[in-house]
Amino acid sequence: MVLLDTLREGLADLDVRGLTRRRRVADTPCAAHMTVDGREIVGFASNDYLGLAAHPRLAEAIAEGARRYGSGSGGSHLLGGHSRAHAVLEDELAAFAGGFVDAPRALTFSTGYMSNLATVTALAGRGATLFSDALNHASLIDGARLSRADVQIYPHADTEALAAMLDASDASVKAIVTDTVFSMDGSIAPLARLAELAERHGAWLIVDDAHGFGVLGPQGRGAVAQAALRSPHLVYLCTFGKAVGVAGAAVIAHETVIEWLLQRARPYIFTTAASPADAHAVSASLALIAGDEGRARRQHLQALIEHTRETLRLTRWRPIDSPTAVQPLVIGGNEQTLALAARLEAEGLWVPAIRPPTVPVDTSRLRISLSAGHTFADLERLRAALVRMGELA
Ligand code: PMP
Repeated sequence: MVLLDTLREGLADLDVRGLTRRRRVADTPCAAHMTVDGREIVGFASNDYLGLAAHPRLAEAIAEGARRYGSGSGGSHLLGGHSRAHAVLEDELAAFAGGFVDAPRALTFSTGYMSNLATVTALAGRGATLFSDALNHASLIDGARLSRADVQIYPHADTEALAAMLDASDASVKAIVTDTVFSMDGSIAPLARLAELAERHGAWLIVDDAHGFGVLGPQGRGAVAQAALRSPHLVYLCTFGKAVGVAGAAVIAHETVIEWLLQRARPYIFTTAASPADAHAVSASLALIAGDEGRARRQHLQALIEHTRETLRLTRWRPIDSPTAVQPLVIGGNEQTLALAARLEAEGLWVPAIRPPTVPVDTSRLRISLSAGHTFADLERLRAALVRMGELA
């Protein structure tokens, strides 16, 4: 009982500090308009930026993939689980998003969390130094911890500070690690400058484009394509559970990097390959993203982003000026943020309250996440709700 009591105390402590998290149950597919816990709501909580998660063509592709390749891969990639669906997808990904490097090759993973652990640990081990943006995603932070490399954290997007750290370092292996679009701020990393520093210091540049892939750049080819970077030391991570509307992830890099990951990265080697049906659906989604439908969805999303930026500027809280689909409104304290989220929810608007440790203490926020599935009427409902809460200037 003592052990359980310790956990109960820990849970009570979280509750007192406004840090208890609660799951909602989605009764319908993830979409801008959905039923959650039995209630119809407008969802501003997902990362389904292009509104593809409920696209009938992708549901059909999953069914077709399952008919062709089965539902389960049956094993790890190196022990029988690597299907034609994965192989085809890897070739497509290398061609679609690998333009930053000669001889691009892709390696698929079942989650972005795993791809990040794999990449960071395989490229920077004991004796290496990792230079990590202060706002990097938890999976990059956990990869850094697992790697046993020396980790130096630079202030968010501060390339001057990073340059000074690199200058002072005599590590034989260096790697700069960054999100492209920071998931809780919506800001975009200074990729061109980071690439310059990586070149000058002979460092890897590992970029996590979980929130840019499918949305940014020509044909949605991602943040690195948008910045038109090229370097053999660039290692690109993308995920399929956000704009792509399915699940999984990939690393795209020079073929030698990929072969190294395949041989050495434990989070790649010792886990079951993703469902081939999912891989088949990701291929179908890439076709949508690159085509006219993807372009139209990105254009609509861009218009929604600009509209939301204008609206949030008028509130009494601190919006973070974000050019992406993630539009945060920083409230500050946990309780106040939770109270505002609850009031919005009572009006049928689902905007999650993001609290520590996901964001720094005293910067709890409402994270408004936009999707091409939203309409301007949805944005108007959100704006009107904020007005009714008496909080618009
Ligand atoms: N990187 C970033 C920046 C993310 O936001 C996330 C997911 N929230 C991941 C990686 C992990 O990806 P996945 O959900 O596929 O594990």
